[in-house]
Amino acid sequence: MPAIALIGLYLAVAFAPLGLAVASARPPRPILDELATGAALVAFAILLAEFLLSGRFRAISGRVGMDVTMRFHQLLARTALALAMVHPFLYTLPFNRPLPYDPTRQLTLTFEGEGLVTGVLAFLLLPSLVILSIGRDKLPFRYETWRFMHGIGALAVAGLVYLHAVEAGRYSQDWMLRGFWSGLLGLAVLSLLVVYVFKPLLQLRRGWHVSGVRQVAERTWELTIAPDGHDGLTYRAGQFAWINIGHSPFSLDENPFSICSSPAEGRELRFLIKELGDFTGSLSRIRPGTQAHLDGPHGHLTLQGRSAPGIAFIAGGVGIAPMLSLLGQLAHDGDPRPTVLVYGNRAADQIALGDELARLRRVHKTQVVQVLSGPPPDWSGEVGIIDAARIRALFGEEQYRDWLFVLCGPPAMMETVEETLLEIGVSSRTILAERFRYD
Ligand SMILES: Cc1cc2nc3c(=O)[nH]c(=O)nc-3n(C[C@H](O)[C@H](O)[C@H](O)COP(=O)(O)OP(=O)(O)OC[C@H]3O[C@@H](n4cnc5c(N)ncnc54)[C@H](O)[C@@H]3O)c2cc1C
Repeated sequence: MPAIALIGLYLAVAFAPLGLAVASARPPRPILDELATGAALVAFAILLAEFLLSGRFRAISGRVGMDVTMRFHQLLARTALALAMVHPFLYTLPFNRPLPYDPTRQLTLTFEGEGLVTGVLAFLLLPSLVILSIGRDKLPFRYETWRFMHGIGALAVAGLVYLHAVEAGRYSQDWMLRGFWSGLLGLAVLSLLVVYVFKPLLQLRRGWHVSGVRQVAERTWELTIAPDGHDGLTYRAGQFAWINIGHSPFSLDENPFSICSSPAEGRELRFLIKELGDFTGSLSRIRPGTQAHLDGPHGHLTLQGRSAPGIAFIAGGVGIAPMLSLLGQLAHDGDPRPTVLVYGNRAADQIALGDELARLRRVHKTQVVQVLSGPPPDWSGEVGIIDAARIRALFGEEQYRDWLFVLCGPPAMMETVEETLLEIGVSSRTILAERFRYD
């Protein structure tokens, strides 16, 4: 399904409750009350659709990229929060018990019993969920703990809002809208079951083990895993996978990494990993033979369907990982298109897999431009950072017009390069980028 159809589908889901409310043909209330209910209906639809956006479904993230999907997830969560927070304050009708002469609840609002308690609890829990996500890095617990709390919290909010809607909502008591909420809530729960139960069950049947770990640059490791008695992963060069080393597949201890080997290399998968936190800091202690599980492939940083006459790869630090996969596959296929790899680091000992770079230079005639901001005295490459001036100096009119630009690296570098490329007239359609962080 093309990205535009996905957006259309999303909007249809978000606004469907408004259509169903109108279709229930209840007599109108004051405009502010209808606005209040409308805000709540859209907020709830967005909230339930969030489960699908964050569920690692390739039909969604494979089209627009996992990082863009997660940005949408964050933006929409904030939109839903704003709508949900504002809606109780817009009502003008009095709170009262249902009046016998008002069967359509045109004259009063329900604010009692379950409808009240669930609404208040959701009203308190939803902002906590969003605030804890925004400030996640400052929390005193592990990423995995936050992820667990986030999932459980989101499910609790969804359940509370469902009960609030069907108890207190004027339109949600109608069978059509009630059915819509039940279906969407069912899909949300199903998406959690897929990620946390069904996929791990499949992973149990297609196990992996660590076949090698070696340090390849300063605080950077190459981890290799091999399939246990199956034919491995079918993936495209440039994609990534969540890997879980040494834990049960049902554990939340898994991390996303770009596959740095290319499909042509065979069944083993290589990853290039920079030490950063708990898991990445433990690589030196991982022993060959350790069991592993894998969820993938994911990601849209692939050259499938890209027929540009040349390709520029711009990588910072460990962002080189997917580039090596892509270039390795191009070299294996004997792809005749010219390629340029711009690879930035701070120091020479951070350059990873120099032998592979040399081979690409030799065999595939890739033009490799190494950039160091803190070079040693005998450095013969470029000095500085990958900034706007360097991009302008390295590429010319023809490349800007026709080539494909593939970017991966630290956020600041990616932003500068992306902005520069757009400024000099590169179409956003010929820029492929992957962020290693979702926020
Ligand atoms: C699509 C993608 C591809 C990546 N490819 C590479 C790569 O090739 N090489 C590399 O060195 N790094 C890569 N990363 C970054 C890598 O995932 C993190 O550095 C790693 O997960 C940190 O884990 P930790 O336990 O050491 O640190 P922690 O302190 O636990 O985590 C640090 C940060 O890593 C991110 N992170 C941790 N676990 C997860 C998770 N399960 N899902 C999403 N994000 C998580 C979070 O932003 C977290 O704040 C990639 C990230 C993404 C999103």
